[in-house]
Amino acid sequence: MTENPHDQLVLSLFKECDALLQGHFKLTSGKHSEWYFEKIRLIEKPAALEKIVDLLVEKIEAEVPDFDYVVSPAYGAIAIGFLAALKLGKGFAFTQRSEEKMTVRSGFAGLDGSRAVIVEDILTTGGSILEVLACLKEHGVTTKGIYVLVDRSGGAVPVEGKAVGSLLALKVEAFEPDACPFCKKGLPLTKPGASDKK
Ligand SMILES: [Zn+2]
Repeated sequence: MTENPHDQLVLSLFKECDALLQGHFKLTSGKHSEWYFEKIRLIEKPAALEKIVDLLVEKIEAEVPDFDYVVSPAYGAIAIGFLAALKLGKGFAFTQRSEEKMTVRSGFAGLDGSRAVIVEDILTTGGSILEVLACLKEHGVTTKGIYVLVDRSGGAVPVEGKAVGSLLALKVEAFEPDACPFCKKGLPLTKPGASDKK
């Protein structure tokens, strides 16, 4: 998928926590793919996740000089953002959907008017990050950076004109069933859980 040595390191860390699976998968879109991210596995194995978050923290420290909070959308990214905030010495808050709208719990008293970095697990369409941006804007928060562990758009999706920093930009090829090379080889098809849904 990628020859870059840094990408290879990140890939091996994802494989270490079984978050990146290789096989023949039916995606929620109905298309078939050789690769599948089981992102819930990231938080299932904290020690493996910590190594991945260390790389993310290094990147954020190098690129964003000044901010106050790490903000992540519930639920999958909370552990990732929290761990990053702890290592960066920043505050942490999360957003959650309440009646379809992305909101911040009123208990996060210091967030309003602050400067934040958004941390999300996987960027697919950018939909949930857009919702977080809008939500933070309502709270007078300046977004200083947007980071994801894996950019599945392969760097194709800027969010509101802002670049999205990722540890791994990976365009995963997906095939219509009748054009799928793995179907042609007769490999058994796996339908993973709904955790890939965004
Ligand atoms: Zn197939």
